[in-house]
Amino acid sequence: MTELNDTAASRLCAACGMCCNGVLFHGMQVQPQDSLRSLASKGLKPKRRDGDLFFPQPCPAHQDSYCQIYNDRPQRCRAFVCKQLAAVIDGKKTEAAALEKIREARVLTAEIFDLLVALGDSRDHRALAVRCAGIFTPPLDASPEATRLREVLRVAMEKLDRLLSMDFRTP
Ligand code: SF4
Ligand code: SF4
Repeated sequence: MTELNDTAASRLCAACGMCCNGVLFHGMQVQPQDSLRSLASKGLKPKRRDGDLFFPQPCPAHQDSYCQIYNDRPQRCRAFVCKQLAAVIDGKKTEAAALEKIREARVLTAEIFDLLVALGDSRDHRALAVRCAGIFTPPLDASPEATRLREVLRVAMEKLDRLLSMDFRTP
């Protein structure tokens, strides 16, 4: 990355945070290069699921819109560059256009967070996908209002998933 692009990356990521706050991922898989002891001392404690070790998200190191352990972050964090950031770095997209796409995703995400709270889930320490899965796990509240809100949530999640897949996630 050039210095200019480093600056652009810093601005984009400060406005976004979605690869750290549990919106894009529910966790980052631990890699052999990661020092578990050092990362644990910084608050990143791995969990095991389906045989894999991963650092759960939302990441505790993501504070005040920045990674507080940037120079020591896990390998998967170093390797990940979303489509928006990659396009700006490659000169295929302006920073303003990428910021507008981030804004669009953040507005939709905020709506989904509000829906989750309205449906009784205030677990902001859990990843978005985990929270949404909980809402659709029986037993379900069969009241008309809860049924309506679940349908609004389902549609909003599908829209967000399409947006994230098309504009942020990498293969
Ligand atoms: S999703 Fe992209 S723009 Fe957003 S914080 Fe991650 S790398 Fe930065
Ligand atoms: S360690 Fe830093 S870059 Fe990695 S998920 Fe946490 S806040 Fe984001």
